[in-house]
Order: sequence, then C-alpha cells, then structure tokens
Amino acid sequence: MITLENFNLICWIWIGIGVVTFPILLKVKQPYGRHTRKNWGAMINNKLGWFLMELPALLVFLFFVSKTENWFNFMLIIAVSLWSLHYVHRAVIFPFRLKTKGKKMPVIIMLSAVFFNTVNGFINGYWLAKFIPEDNILFSNDLRMVIGATVFVIGFIINQYHDQILLGLRKGKDTGYQIPNGGMFKILSCPNYFGEIISWLGFFIVTLSLPALAFFIWTLVNLVPRALDHHRWYQSEFPDYPSKRKAIFPFLL
Ligand code: NDP
Repeated sequence: MITLENFNLICWIWIGIGVVTFPILLKVKQPYGRHTRKNWGAMINNKLGWFLMELPALLVFLFFVSKTENWFNFMLIIAVSLWSLHYVHRAVIFPFRLKTKGKKMPVIIMLSAVFFNTVNGFINGYWLAKFIPEDNILFSNDLRMVIGATVFVIGFIINQYHDQILLGLRKGKDTGYQIPNGGMFKILSCPNYFGEIISWLGFFIVTLSLPALAFFIWTLVNLVPRALDHHRWYQSEFPDYPSKRKAIFPFLL
C-alpha cells in the first residue's frame, strides 16, 4: 500500500516531467502520422502500434481500480464509466478504423506511449481505488460531478465527430491528406485534439484529483505542440489553406 504522501509525490514528479517535456515537444515533432520519420529506428505497423500503446491505459486502470472496497461510490462509478467509454473506443475500436494501410510508426513512439499509458492508468486507477473521498454515496446529488461528466461527454463528442471527418477523407486504399472541412474545422486545424482536452478537463472536474490533473496537463503537453505542427504543415502543404483557422483553441491559438 502506497501512502497518500508518496502517491502525491509520484503525481507531482509525473507532472514535473510533463512540464519539462512541453518545450521539448514544441521543438521536436512527434514522429508518427504525417510527421513519421524513418530515422527513429525500428518501425511497427501503425494500427498494431495504436492498439498496443493504448491498451495499457484500459487494462492497467481497470486492474488497479478493481482493488477498490467500495464499488458503490458515485464518483468511482462515473469515473470508471467515462474512462472505459474513452479507452474501449481508443484502444479496441479506433485502431481498426484507421485508414493507414502500409503505414508504420517508430517502435520507440509505441513504447513511450505504453509507458505513458501505464503510468497514467496506474495513478488514476490507484487513486480511485484507494484515495477516493468516501462521502460520495451512490446517487448523491453532487452537481460538480454531473457538470464534469457533461463536460467530458461534450469533449468526447467533439473528439469523435472530428476524428470521424478525418477518417472519412480517405477513400479506398488512399493514405494521402486533404484539407478537412465541416464542424469546428471551420475555425480550427485540430478540433479533435480540442475535444480530447475538453474531455480530460471534464474528468478532472469529476474527481478533483491530482492524477486527473496530471492527465489533463499531459494531454495539453502532448496535443498543443502536435496541433501547432499539424497547423504549420497544413499551411505549408496547401497554399489555399484557410487563413483564419487557428491550430487548437478557438480564436486564441
Ligand atoms: P491526427 O489528427 O493526426 O490523425 C487522426 C487520423 O486521421 C489518422 O489516421 C490520420 O492519418 C488521419 N488524418 C489526419 N488528418 C488528415 C487529413 N488532413 N487528411 C486525411 N487523413 C487525415 O490524430 P493523431 O493520430 O495524433 O491522434 C488520434 C487520436 O488520439 C485523436 O483523437 C487524439 O485526440 C488522440 N490522442 C490523444 C493524446 C493524449 O495525450 N490524450 C495523445 C495523442 C493522440 P495519418 O496517421 O496517416 O496521419
């Protein structure tokens, strides 16, 4: 059993690593998808890579959360439902919807994501099982948790809707790129990332926990630099790219 003090220390170190990683990712493009480069060592099939790297987030989380002695905690029920909704899709469904036939990603990217998802699944699952506040009795009417869950679902819908537009751009065995349109693509290059950030903000509002804050910060660390890279890539690849689009945050960035 980890003490709360040590557990919080782990979370703060994890947040610290995220903060240090942010400026690095602003300089170094994450080499998967359109930014894949072959000088990052061994490569793995893209779909298989996505499946293997996202699965630990689901399995490790559920493993640690299953250690709970209080399944009738309202916060626990909401948090496990939201996490499972997201990760059953991300790990088990999303990889098989990708139209990336013949594409590969560096094994190092897959392994670093396995590490990230393992730590993230552990801290969030462990906190819910061991450190969750005990006064969240089943169906207690906690407005904050309902608001948080609503924010999560709104983010999830934004993320899904725009990922679907992207996946729908490719017909047959095409693996090229086009300018995406529709929905929030009117104002953003990466509304799918915007939705993902909103989701994990909602998850943080539900639990108000340090590990959920860490995940929210890490989502910003991962996705803001990548959105800026995508945005610049669109502008350089497509001379007619809409000039008013921002990268990830409406009207801001
Ligand atoms: P991208 O937007 O880069 O790509 C999503 C899919 O759409 C890929 O299959 C990509 O193909 C394809 N695609 C993207 N743009 C175009 C286009 N203009 N024309 C045709 N096809 C296109 O997303 P990521 O791959 O970076 O991420 C996938 C999901 O994972 C997102 O929902 C994201 O929010 C989530 N994610 C979450 C993270 C977190 O920390 N919480 C971290 C990273 C991702 P290709 O791969 O060939 O480029």
